[in-house]
Amino acid sequence: MKAAVVGKDHNVEIQDKKLRPLEHGEALLQMECCGVCHTDLHVKNGDFGDKTGVILGHEGVGVVKEVGPGVTSLKVGDRASVAWFFQGCGHCEYCISGNETLCRSVKNAGYTVDGGMAEECIVTADYAVKVPDGLDSAAASSVTCAGVTTYKAIKVSNIKAGKWIAIYGLGGLGNLALQYAKNVFNAKVIAIDVNDEQLKLAQEMGADMVINPAKEDAAKLIQEKVGGAHAAVVTAVAKAAFNSAVDAVRAGARIVAVGLPPEAMSLDIPRLVLDGIEVVGSLVGTREDLAEAFQFAAEGKVVPKVAKRPIEDINDIFHEMEQGKIKGRMVVDFSL
Ligand code: NAD
Ligand code: ZN
Ligand code: ZN
Repeated sequence: MKAAVVGKDHNVEIQDKKLRPLEHGEALLQMECCGVCHTDLHVKNGDFGDKTGVILGHEGVGVVKEVGPGVTSLKVGDRASVAWFFQGCGHCEYCISGNETLCRSVKNAGYTVDGGMAEECIVTADYAVKVPDGLDSAAASSVTCAGVTTYKAIKVSNIKAGKWIAIYGLGGLGNLALQYAKNVFNAKVIAIDVNDEQLKLAQEMGADMVINPAKEDAAKLIQEKVGGAHAAVVTAVAKAAFNSAVDAVRAGARIVAVGLPPEAMSLDIPRLVLDGIEVVGSLVGTREDLAEAFQFAAEGKVVPKVAKRPIEDINDIFHEMEQGKIKGRMVVDFSL
């Protein structure tokens, strides 16, 4: 089967791979599609360590082709996901307290274990979340990382209906953050991106205010126009966006860090203390978060913008991502 494998020199190779037989509790998915996340770009570039040889992909959706011994949660023909949160240990303090993505023995698809950017993928059945009927597989693939991550980040932000949330970065994650914030949490959304094309899309998707920080001081404008945002979610891969978010919010606000630039942000201690500002990280979402995020998409509240591409385009897709040319999500479709 064809698979997108991290090669040397930060290139991705399409290799012919053979999978091992299934073990207890595993299922084999015939992959339909797999979205390309900016995290895949970090992984193949070695931003999180050398990952040569791993099969990429953690926005995968496939159909169960075979189940191993002991599997009761999936059956042949079900559609299921391959997510970054691939498997937890199931018994540590994080796994049993609703924080399974923080499990210290976690396995991550397309990073510590082979992922879903391949014609077939072995999953741990109890951790592969079923895709609801009525949700198209390409749209579901986007929800598997971009959707659940931003849905969870907005939950973590504690935003209330009618209040202002600033979303920094309107790329693959950001345009879903915008839709979950508006259509599920009923918040007012300020979209901030250095790319006018992304802002145009954000406006079409209902952003209440759009700002290009390359042209205007986003934080100053947000303070002037709405008195500061009640919360911020930062998906931008740039420390400038994290710093701006701290200045853009009002007292008592929470800033949720989602993007992963390999840098440090500046935090003014008096600002944090005197204004009670909280800065928290948020990592993808639990299986339950993903089931909820899928359901909102199945109900049409969130409609991922996707473009389908053949697996052979993978290196071109990464170049386009680096140049900021992608609107929404590029999805590898294994039928192309
Ligand atoms: P993307 O490339 O599709 O989007 C990034 C967007 O940020 C682009 O629209 C870009 O124009 C914008 N941007 C760049 N500089 C900016 C600035 N200074 N201010 C405002 N916007 C700016 O990437 P993506 O797939 O949406 O992923 C974003 C980040 O989130 C990556 O670092 C990825 O690794 C990370 N991520 C984190 C989690 C998590 O669980 N925390 C999950 C998935 C992805
Ligand atoms: Zn991702
Ligand atoms: Zn655990």
